[in-house]
Amino acid sequence: MSTGADRLAEVRGRIEAAARSAGRDPTDVTLVAVSKTHGADRVREMLEAGQRVFGENRVQEAQEKFPALKSACPDIELHLIGPLQTNKARDAVMLFDVIQSVDRQRIAAALAKEMAHVGRRPACFIQVNTGEEPQKAGVAPADVDAFVAACRDIHKLPVVGLMCIPPVDEEPALHFALLGKIAARNGLPKISMGMSADYEMAVKLGATHVRVGSALFGARPPLETAAPETHA
Ligand SMILES: *Cc1c(COP(=O)(O)O)cnc(C)c1O
Repeated sequence: MSTGADRLAEVRGRIEAAARSAGRDPTDVTLVAVSKTHGADRVREMLEAGQRVFGENRVQEAQEKFPALKSACPDIELHLIGPLQTNKARDAVMLFDVIQSVDRQRIAAALAKEMAHVGRRPACFIQVNTGEEPQKAGVAPADVDAFVAACRDIHKLPVVGLMCIPPVDEEPALHFALLGKIAARNGLPKISMGMSADYEMAVKLGATHVRVGSALFGARPPLETAAPETHA
């Protein structure tokens, strides 16, 4: 059986090869290790193997795991990659270093308010619903430019990039290319796209952040394998 360190080395090697084959600098790609549903012991195994950037999709689960890990290892960088409710905005601002799922005015306003209150300013990505799936979070492609402008100019959020989760049954390359195009025209340098099944293609198409869970940690327990982020 492979260890966490083996799997991390494998994924890192693949990211590096994909970047080089696309003429990109591999250090421009950040691997976000998605540790949702896995315990702190599994995160510690990855820490020991040198991984520092982690992603969680639920605020409450991250609150149970990461404060202790962060105080033991202050250079952890924690990303929120799942939907955020306004009543969790303060907790999210206090715990996360990056929030990848900003997708509506109410959340943008709540984050701005809590950033002022808490005195921390996590970098923000705008989540784009590139497949325009009704059940999925994210801003519709046609609305992204106006939403980015509102986040920057009205809410004064530190917006750095875009994030997407393509439809499961469609060619992800089309969605990755679309996200890259929208990021470029909005002058946004960071692009979060690609998961275990397609992160190499995402790197080839310009991802600066890939979010990899099962390829690093193994399969998630079946009961917890809910759709990554449907909105209630
Ligand atoms: C769970 C999750 C991932 C990781 O998925 P894997 O297929 O296990 O790599 C990436 N992004 C988001 C938003 C997720 O919820």
